[in-house]
Amino acid sequence: MQLIYEKSIPGRRGVRLPASDVPQAAELPTGLRRSDAPGLPEMSELDVVRHFTNLSRRNFSVDTNFYPLGSCTMKYNAKALEEAAKLFAPFHPMVPLLPQGASFSQGCLGLAYELGACLAEITGMDEVTTQPLAGAHGEMAGIMLIAAYHEAKGSKKKYVVVPDSSHGTNPASAAMVGYEIITVPTAPYGDMDLDKFREVMTDEVAAVMMTCPNTLGLFNPHIKEISDIAHDHDALMYYDGANLNAILGKVRPGDVGFDVIHVNLHKTFGTPHGGGGPGSGPVGVKKQLIPFLPTPRIVKADDGSYAIDTHTHESIGRTAGFFGNFGVMVKAFAYMTMLGRDGLIQVSEQAVLSANYVMSQLKDAFELPYDQTCMHECVFSASRQVKNGVHAIDIAKFLIDKGYHPPTVYFPLIVKEAIMIEPTETESKETLDAFIAIMKEAAELAEKDPAAFSAMPKTMPVTRLDETKAAREQNVCYFGC
Ligand SMILES: *Cc1c(COP(=O)(O)O)cnc(C)c1O
Repeated sequence: MQLIYEKSIPGRRGVRLPASDVPQAAELPTGLRRSDAPGLPEMSELDVVRHFTNLSRRNFSVDTNFYPLGSCTMKYNAKALEEAAKLFAPFHPMVPLLPQGASFSQGCLGLAYELGACLAEITGMDEVTTQPLAGAHGEMAGIMLIAAYHEAKGSKKKYVVVPDSSHGTNPASAAMVGYEIITVPTAPYGDMDLDKFREVMTDEVAAVMMTCPNTLGLFNPHIKEISDIAHDHDALMYYDGANLNAILGKVRPGDVGFDVIHVNLHKTFGTPHGGGGPGSGPVGVKKQLIPFLPTPRIVKADDGSYAIDTHTHESIGRTAGFFGNFGVMVKAFAYMTMLGRDGLIQVSEQAVLSANYVMSQLKDAFELPYDQTCMHECVFSASRQVKNGVHAIDIAKFLIDKGYHPPTVYFPLIVKEAIMIEPTETESKETLDAFIAIMKEAAELAEKDPAAFSAMPKTMPVTRLDETKAAREQNVCYFGC
């Protein structure tokens, strides 16, 4: 496929503007004028439309096909949410920060505040900041809050404890804030090994970071016990909210001992994220951590109006420009208000039912290392297929040819050849059945003709790439490098 620059024909135009009838005021100073034309592609309107339409047809999205990417909650993004976000597009993000600006931006401040209040209610926290721009960013902000809390108390803390099933961003965030990481292995039943956990807990532990349900899709029945042990050592409990879709309206992390959480708005509350964005990772905290929240805080006065509070001297500071990724926040707020309390409860119930349905139907075809009722996702292994030389990545490529986005593969790291399937609540039974049939077809092909996989995908502009090279020796420049 040619780049748009390669299609350029000198002198060709898409739009011709009439001659200006406004008198010229003055010449731009020579230093500000360009010496050459900007080098933009010269094309007709139709050629531009075709170029971009054809490019867009190579995109994979939830709007085109099933996207069971485990841990990512790629649910359908209702078009009404986009309409809601559009309503806020004309507002300049600087306005609330200007003198008297808050009076012109009550709607925006109110939305951010009320979104925080809804998230606090859903998660059982006392206050929420909407600033962080993604889950990983929220984790880092959350661990900074925990560090500020311990520091204010004069406690010397050195470690953050994570289970070995944790998402890589958990230990990475803690390490970036300066903690050493202690990793606890997973027991055969699929949860963090409680005895090993007890062994590593000392008064030098600052926090225990957990995802619940964890990345195997399993709910840990010992959460309360774990948080009691952590609190006995004055360690705080951090909840990675990436899997919140599984427990919406069922369990509030704040009620079972968690002190700090982040929520991935772009997972649980619409806006499926692709291509690196956009995201939003609000952080919720219990009372004792409120003084450290990022500045500025949005507060609500007794008369119901909203204002900005910058007098937060213990704050960890600003973690993002303005008030967060506002468009994603609007979509999340619209999502919550459209569904309401009962709707959100139905979301988690349906998500869990769908995952268990897929799991039950594929059990005979693929190895299921932790064979239990799952929550919103299930993790298979391609270990049976590997005996014939077919790996998880080969099954992923097969699915691409069949029009499905592959599940997450090779994560969580504790499952060899992992295939992590998260169907989400927005898919119909017909879609799930079609996917199940294709997965069974993959398992059969791995028995009958394993060599066939090496040529896949066949339907894409590129086939097998050297993924290591693509990551390590990136060259994304087209001109002159
Ligand atoms: C997605 C995810 C994260 C990181 O969130 P981002 O928004 O992608 O930064 C952290 N933990 C788990 C379990 C996740 O699935």
